[in-house]
Amino acid sequence: FFSALISNYLFTDSIWITSNEEALELCCFVLLSLIIAGLSEISVRALSRAQQAEREKDNFMAAVAHEMRSPLSVIYYANSMNRIAGNQPMGDQLDTIDRQVHHLNLMIEDLLDVSRVARGKVKLNLRPSKLSSIVAAAVERATPLINNHRHLLKIQLPPDDVELCVDSRRIEQVLTNLLTNAAKYTPDGGEIVVRAGVIDSQATLSVRDNGIGIASNAMPTIFELFFQADAARDRAEGGLGIGLALSRKIVQMHSGSLRATSAGKNRGSEFVVSLPVQQPATQQLSLASV
Ligand code: ADP
Repeated sequence: FFSALISNYLFTDSIWITSNEEALELCCFVLLSLIIAGLSEISVRALSRAQQAEREKDNFMAAVAHEMRSPLSVIYYANSMNRIAGNQPMGDQLDTIDRQVHHLNLMIEDLLDVSRVARGKVKLNLRPSKLSSIVAAAVERATPLINNHRHLLKIQLPPDDVELCVDSRRIEQVLTNLLTNAAKYTPDGGEIVVRAGVIDSQATLSVRDNGIGIASNAMPTIFELFFQADAARDRAEGGLGIGLALSRKIVQMHSGSLRATSAGKNRGSEFVVSLPVQQPATQQLSLASV
C-alpha cells in the first residue's frame, strides 16, 4: 500500500488519489501484492514441510537399519555357536544362513551410509593411497561373486603407480560396487575389464562389462536413489538401488565424478570414476552436504 502511494507521489507529485482510475490502480496493486505475499508464504511453508519430511525419512532409514543390526548379529552368533558345536548335518544350512546374514549386513551398511551422507555425517579420512592397492582390495572383495558367475576378469594398471590423496576405504567401496554390479548384470561367463590410469591430471578407474547394458532412457536415472532399471529382476540380484547413488556421492565428496556409458540393451556398459590427482592435504574432511 505504501509503495503504491510512494510511486503515485513519484509519478504525479502528489500522494493523494485524485481520480477513480488511480484508486482502481491502487486497489489492483495492493491485491496483487497480497496474492504474491500469500503465494510465497505457501511455497516457503511447503518447502519447510518437504525438508522436514526428508529429514524424517533419513532418520527413519537410519533407525530401521540400526535396529536390524542387532537381530542379525544374534543370528550370526547363534550360527557360529552351532558350527563350533559341530552341528555337521546342518553344515549346508549354516553356510546359507552365513551368506544371507552377510548379504543383509552389506545392505544395512549401504542404507546407513546413504542416511549418513544425507545428514552430512560422513567424514573422509584422506590419506595418500596407491591406485594399484585400491584396485587390488576391490578386486579381492568382488572376486567370489565374479567367480560364482564364471566371468573372466581382466585388470589393466598403468606402468607407473599413481598416488592419490583419498579415503581409500571409500574409493574401494565404490570400485567394489561397480565390480559387483558388472558381475550381477552380466550373464554367466562374461568378461569384466577393470582399468586404472591417469588422463590430464585425473586418475581414472573404469569397469567395463559385456553384460545386459543400460537402455538410453534409463541412463539419466541410474544414479538416483532406489532406481532399478528392471525392479523385479534387479531386486532378485539382491540389490536395493542404492549402490550407484551412494558411489556417486562418495566420488563427488572427493571432487571427482562417476559417469556411465552403454551402447544400449545387451551391449554392455562402462562406469568411469575420475578423481583429481592433486587433493588438499587435509587429513580429515567433513562435508556438510553433497
Ligand atoms: P542395485 O542394488 O539394484 O544393483 P545400483 O544403484 O547399484 O543398485 O544400480 C542401479 C541400477 O542400475 C541397477 O538396478 C541396474 O538396473 C543398473 N545397473 C547398474 N550397474 C549395471 C551394469 N553394470 N550393467 C547393467 N545395468 C546396471
